[in-house]
Amino acid sequence: MEKNSKIFVAGHKGMVGSAIVRKLEKEGYTNIITRNSSILDLRNQQAVADFFALEKPEYVFLAAAKVGGIIANNTYRADFLYENLSIQNNVIHHAYVNGVTKLMFLGSSCIYPKLAPQPLKEEYLLTGLLEETNEPYAIAKIAGIKMCDAYRSQYGCNFISVMPTNLYGYNDNYHPQNSHVLPALIRKFDEAKKNGDATVTVWGSGSPKREFLFADDLAEACYFLMQTYNEPNLINIGTGEDLSIKELALLIKDIVGFKGELVFDTTKPDGTPRKLMDVSKLHQQGWKHKIELKEGLSLAYQDFLSKNSLA
Ligand code: GDP
Repeated sequence: MEKNSKIFVAGHKGMVGSAIVRKLEKEGYTNIITRNSSILDLRNQQAVADFFALEKPEYVFLAAAKVGGIIANNTYRADFLYENLSIQNNVIHHAYVNGVTKLMFLGSSCIYPKLAPQPLKEEYLLTGLLEETNEPYAIAKIAGIKMCDAYRSQYGCNFISVMPTNLYGYNDNYHPQNSHVLPALIRKFDEAKKNGDATVTVWGSGSPKREFLFADDLAEACYFLMQTYNEPNLINIGTGEDLSIKELALLIKDIVGFKGELVFDTTKPDGTPRKLMDVSKLHQQGWKHKIELKEGLSLAYQDFLSKNSLA
């Protein structure tokens, strides 16, 4: 990528896309193109065709997706499947039609089988049944990986797929029902502290284990791999370290300064028991995360306060 290469970041308003744009700007890239969804609806095939024909981007980061936590994924099953398939079909196909030099597709750790051995190696893809709560989202993401592979093998496109672990950071979604666990707990502990509540309710048993990567670290990894990684096989992006939801809740409780107790609502689903990425391939490529969980949680909480403070 040259500093004046034309780079399209799809999903630039989201947590991941905005972190990628920040990284590219920091590195001195001058020709980054973005479109708000009100101007360009990536689910609309003709609109995407027209956009690519007009703009002719050279590089594409495909970070646009409909995302959400366990309840959102399980409730809006049709929307998660339809919208994600539409977005990625349109962008990947028209990247091919318009001769894009390189495209990066961002997937998710939920593509791996629910009961795959841990840590999750890239080759475990399609070796078992998926977790039911986010199966539609995972199926869409698996289709995206397979599309990149198919366009590479049939048409010689340099389209790569990266699989980030659970993410958090600036511009996260803090919706009480639809967000992921980490931002949901930041909101819950903050509100409970301000309201003087005695308890905070954590969904599920607290025993599932999850790994978390700060979105700015992900953006660094994406930038690194966009320049160095040209293989057909997917590559995981994570820290390689996980903790239980209960441990996460206790950490966030401390950072927020909530003095009450945790209550576990076991009527809510646990989801996959464990989702720890094997990041040895990424480390061999020469990249490792920098922001540890405690530091990242403080940064995320400050960001939350600056945007959502009830005070
Ligand atoms: P997942 O990684 O796809 O399962 O998605 P989530 O990030 O939504 O949930 C991860 C785990 O955290 C699940 O076991 C949830 O039940 C649990 N969890 C605990 N409290 C919450 C909460 O307030 N919101 C969400 N989304 N998950 C929670």
